[in-house]
Amino acid sequence: MGRFPIADEELSKIVICRKCKARNKKGTEKCRKCGSSALRPKTKDLRAKKA
Ligand SMILES: [Zn+2]
Repeated sequence: MGRFPIADEELSKIVICRKCKARNKKGTEKCRKCGSSALRPKTKDLRAKKA
């Protein structure tokens, strides 16, 4: 985790559905799979290591 900066960047462009855990593009309003709007960002506190 966090070993590949490019991967981190890609992950930061992704949101995860809280309901079905499907990956969706960031900026989308609804899950493409189940239609839920309960989305969360993929990465959040991985950078806490640097501090
Ligand atoms: Zn979903």
